[in-house]
Amino acid sequence: MYSDYPEGMQTKFLLDEGEMPKRWYNIQADLPGPLDPPLHPATGNAVTPDDLLPIFPMELIRQEMSRERYIDIPAEVQDILTLWRPSPLYRARRLEAALKTPAKIYYKWEGVSPPGSHKPNTAIPQAYYNREEGIERLATETGAGQWGSSLAFATSLFDMECTVYMVRASYEQKPYRKSMMQVYGAECIPSPSPRTESGRMMLERDPETPGSLGIAISEAVEDAASHENTNYALGSVLNHVCLHQTIIGQEALQQLAVAEDYPDVVIGCVGGGSNFSGLSFPFAGEKISGKHPDTDIIAVEPAACPTLTKGLYAYDYGDVAGLTPIMKMFTLGHDFVPPAIHAGGLRYHGASPLLSRLVQDGIIRSAAYYQNEVFEAAVTFARTEGIVVAPEAAHAVKATIDEALRCRETGEAKVILFNNSGHGNFDFSSYEAYFAGGLVDYEYPMDLIKESLSRLPVTG
Ligand SMILES: *Cc1c(COP(=O)(O)O)cnc(C)c1O
Repeated sequence: MYSDYPEGMQTKFLLDEGEMPKRWYNIQADLPGPLDPPLHPATGNAVTPDDLLPIFPMELIRQEMSRERYIDIPAEVQDILTLWRPSPLYRARRLEAALKTPAKIYYKWEGVSPPGSHKPNTAIPQAYYNREEGIERLATETGAGQWGSSLAFATSLFDMECTVYMVRASYEQKPYRKSMMQVYGAECIPSPSPRTESGRMMLERDPETPGSLGIAISEAVEDAASHENTNYALGSVLNHVCLHQTIIGQEALQQLAVAEDYPDVVIGCVGGGSNFSGLSFPFAGEKISGKHPDTDIIAVEPAACPTLTKGLYAYDYGDVAGLTPIMKMFTLGHDFVPPAIHAGGLRYHGASPLLSRLVQDGIIRSAAYYQNEVFEAAVTFARTEGIVVAPEAAHAVKATIDEALRCRETGEAKVILFNNSGHGNFDFSSYEAYFAGGLVDYEYPMDLIKESLSRLPVTG
């Protein structure tokens, strides 16, 4: 492959379809001890598979709790993933040149999926396992619309129905993601809606409410729990979601082997933690096993929602209403309200329990950035590498540029790998606000964090 290229000039590292990983990597097998179990919100006891069966298929519950190192990807799922996988690994040579850095910058490009992000990597297997167990409809929530359009894409391929509760503010501000769901045949409802008990309660309290992710989750869970043929699907945070995303990091390992490199630094952005986990867990596994003990693995988040850098590692609810299991994770408190002035996405109050545990254990570290510097980095990236990245992915770009500039100062030729989680072709209103000087650099104040952390559930 590419043997006629001059040394060091290759831009894209591509794998054949036949080289796509056939198993997901489960980092639960390599943790020094098991995760603290999720707890039932009503009883405070460890959640059992039976507790989850009203809303999840058995196989996903099994994967959620499994400690097997590898889990086979079903043939039908592999077949669909090849619509866009293996995704390319790029060497960002033009960005390196612009930064005058001796560092080598690689990125995995997940914007090649039909909906434009990493999220279909889990939407496809989730729809598959639900259909296999006789489920006809999936209910979910979406904030900006990336997850809703990914699940709509997946359910359309399996001839299933899909109901998406979309946070009303985004429903009105981001009409094109909603249109995309419609093209894929999903029903997209502004949340809160009169469809559910939780929605009706919220509307009664405030008919003009813009909604929130926490309310939309409550609506989707209620919909799934109250219909026999319907299950719930979540696009981030849970162990099985992070598991499905590890195809990204496993491909990157193979592609970097072709490039004859291994990363000194691995970087990704964190909302709930799924794309970051997907890229980094295979490298974190090699760090834990001692094969590559010195890899610096950095989770990047917005200063406006600093879950990993300023939150507490504690048991908390996954939603505002307290309907979901209580999970041990880094959290800002389940009733933390992310500032509306923040355009950069990544607004969840918690983070994946697996990722949280690895941060707590010191395998992974975190960093936080302000949104103006993040958009500035995204513009630099677009003007050198050509891709207009999603505002979420721009956080990873910013951390990468910082690391590369540090290398310029020290003269180190580090190998940096980051996950480019998706394109920003539906996010131009945020870019427009950046250019108009309308983005406010907000740091969530410590006293407000302390206040919402005072309302954590009492456990044990
Ligand atoms: C949803 C999304 C994220 C954040 O979610 P994670 O689960 O943390 O990965 C990041 N980037 C893009 C492009 C997204 O759509």
